[in-house]
Amino acid sequence: MAKDYYEILGVPRDADLKTIKKAYRKLALKYHPDRNPDNPQAEEKFKEITEAYAVLSDPEKRHRYDTYGTKDGMPDFGGFDSMEDIFDIFAQFFGFSGGRGARRYRRGEDIFLAVELEFEEALFGTEKEISVSRRHPCPVCGGSGAEPGVGKVTCKTCGGKGQVVQQQGFFRFVSTCPECRGTGAIIKEKCHECGGTGFTIKQEKLSVQIPPGIDEDHTIRLGGKGHPSIDGGPSGDLYLSVTIKENGKFYRGVSDEDRYNLHTIVEVSFPQLALGDTIDLQIPAPEEPEIVKLEIPPGTQPYDTIVIPGKGVPVIDTVRNGRWTKRGDLVVHLHLTVPKKLSSEEKDLISRLAEVQGQIVTEKKGLFEKLKEKLGVK
Ligand SMILES: [Zn+2]
Ligand SMILES: [Zn+2]
Repeated sequence: MAKDYYEILGVPRDADLKTIKKAYRKLALKYHPDRNPDNPQAEEKFKEITEAYAVLSDPEKRHRYDTYGTKDGMPDFGGFDSMEDIFDIFAQFFGFSGGRGARRYRRGEDIFLAVELEFEEALFGTEKEISVSRRHPCPVCGGSGAEPGVGKVTCKTCGGKGQVVQQQGFFRFVSTCPECRGTGAIIKEKCHECGGTGFTIKQEKLSVQIPPGIDEDHTIRLGGKGHPSIDGGPSGDLYLSVTIKENGKFYRGVSDEDRYNLHTIVEVSFPQLALGDTIDLQIPAPEEPEIVKLEIPPGTQPYDTIVIPGKGVPVIDTVRNGRWTKRGDLVVHLHLTVPKKLSSEEKDLISRLAEVQGQIVTEKKGLFEKLKEKLGVK
């Protein structure tokens, strides 16, 4: 069964490079194994989408794939079977200068963090100070975890190779040595500085610009702000996702078409609907809360909505330097409220209204009777 790379990335067959990159970015961040330590299927999925991206983002490979497809489900493009290649593609995509030549260094690990934002902060952007625990190689043992001068002994289980081979019938399984955890050496005496872990943890404060319009499925990438490499290679990256506090009065649309619209409920009375009214409505704004005029036209129905254009959530794709050029709409949902208690004056007035309306109903009934007569209905 041939793999459908378009389907894997969820893009149409005529998708342009930008669409393919966008789709890959979203999926790669979602399925990155570091982000899914408890889900072994994520790694397989990550491999699949990276392979699909590698083929579809290369015009020549894409043309060959479109023409010939894949053979028996195996990519005929070579070189994607090792996980290292896969991570290389991922690293290059995110602008870290890895690639084949640079593999003698081990890149630091990525850090994934979440930060909580106030509703308004997410709407209009903010600067957030975050605290990150980064693992730096231990200055005493240089990351080995062994006390300098006393050092290590070669691991007996794997003979220093860091890997063990198991034979089962025709199959050979290579796995990381459980004794030395792949380092090939057993620490004889743990480093006094780091206690054998090989790293020291430093709390660092970072200032991060949160763009206006950010939502909970967006990720901010801070290149090189992940864990430092243990051997002088590049640092990992820091991925920041956000959770947004609820506002209680305003909420953001959920569906794709609605996500930049802001919704709110306004309670109104029967006279306001019947006669029309103008209400001052306080809405979230970048600095001071803004007052907009909500115009209710006469004869508005109890659950009508009124749209105030351009007063919704800034569209994140239009944000440059913290400012936006496009905003969604404010959608006001009207709710008719009926008072539970009435003053005697109100009671009189409403009774009078009911009387007048009752007469109208009676008159209408009269018309109906006449109509029945005319049609000869009994
Ligand atoms: Zn140490
Ligand atoms: Zn070993």
